[in-house]
Amino acid sequence: MKVLIVQPIHESGINLLRSAGFDIIYASSPDPKVVSREIKDIDGVIVRTAPFTSEIIEQADSLKVISRHGVGVDNIDIESASKKGILVLNTPGVNDVSVAEHTIAMILALSKRIKDIDNAVRIGNFSIREEYSIIDIEGKTLGIIGFGRIGSLVAKKCRYAFNMKILVYDPYVDREKVEDVNGELVDLETLLRDSDFVTIHAPLSSETRGLIGERELRLMKPSAFIINMARGPIWDETAVVKALSEGWIKGAGTDVFEEEPPSLDNPLLKLNNIILSPHMAALTKECVIRMAICSAQGVVDVLTGKTPKSIVNYSLLKKYGKI
Ligand code: NAD
Repeated sequence: MKVLIVQPIHESGINLLRSAGFDIIYASSPDPKVVSREIKDIDGVIVRTAPFTSEIIEQADSLKVISRHGVGVDNIDIESASKKGILVLNTPGVNDVSVAEHTIAMILALSKRIKDIDNAVRIGNFSIREEYSIIDIEGKTLGIIGFGRIGSLVAKKCRYAFNMKILVYDPYVDREKVEDVNGELVDLETLLRDSDFVTIHAPLSSETRGLIGERELRLMKPSAFIINMARGPIWDETAVVKALSEGWIKGAGTDVFEEEPPSLDNPLLKLNNIILSPHMAALTKECVIRMAICSAQGVVDVLTGKTPKSIVNYSLLKKYGKI
């Protein structure tokens, strides 16, 4: 059987697939037009963040499993896959630590102005120290949008390492889970008004697309920071640019963009009060191995008739009578 690797993954995952006896095919490009041509007799796929569209799925004659190397599945046309009875898997629980740490790195880098002060020293501006512009995070309020695996881990670490006060907005979470970290479940407006740091950890869905726009950013304190570790379209980038350049908020950090990679004329790239990272929060040396093994194991399980760990489209497969 053949497994298509749409974007490179760590060799530990490839070795696992090879030792199960599968042929490995690397896509010539992650471009959906190219993948559509190469998918024909493929049995399993491992996909990272590249779009896996209905156009590709239509061309697939033998595909049984699409295994997402990561958590967010917004790049996969799950509806089309489910109609064809193709299982969609992901790798929850293996990247929480890495993304939570990246989030905390952003919180610290913003509050301590790491990027600015490093630049200042290099150009002889040692007196930047007299601006008294960096802050402690101890005791500050952290607002978490989306209290799942990553959001709740950020809460725990920030609560217990930095004694931060935790506010949570998540329409689907139990109050007790939030209270476990001495957090408070609040509505989105309260969270935005009262937080010193807001961090986004919700999935991209029709409900969360554009969740943070002009109105929401204007509710935030002028001294506050916002961090997006989830997906670019959850905030309105144009509104974020306005908020940062007009001083509605102090600063921001993001790992994700509406368009990835962002074009060089994206105004976010011109602003100094935002820290940018190239969608790599989960790409630590350790995490790429965990994601490669977990996504590959999912393919092996499906193609050898075992039940895989994390089926994303179980209810849709049921709806279409495929299981
Ligand atoms: P998860 O499913 O464990 O948690 C998501 C949480 O968001 C859930 O508690 C859910 O109830 C909540 N939620 C759903 N709709 C919401 C809404 N409208 N408003 C507020 N909260 C809502 O997922 P996770 O593992 O914590 O990952 C969260 C997201 O982070 C992923 O969907 C993915 O997009 C993103 N992510 C990014 C990276 C990266 O490299 N930057 C890596 C991993 C995950």
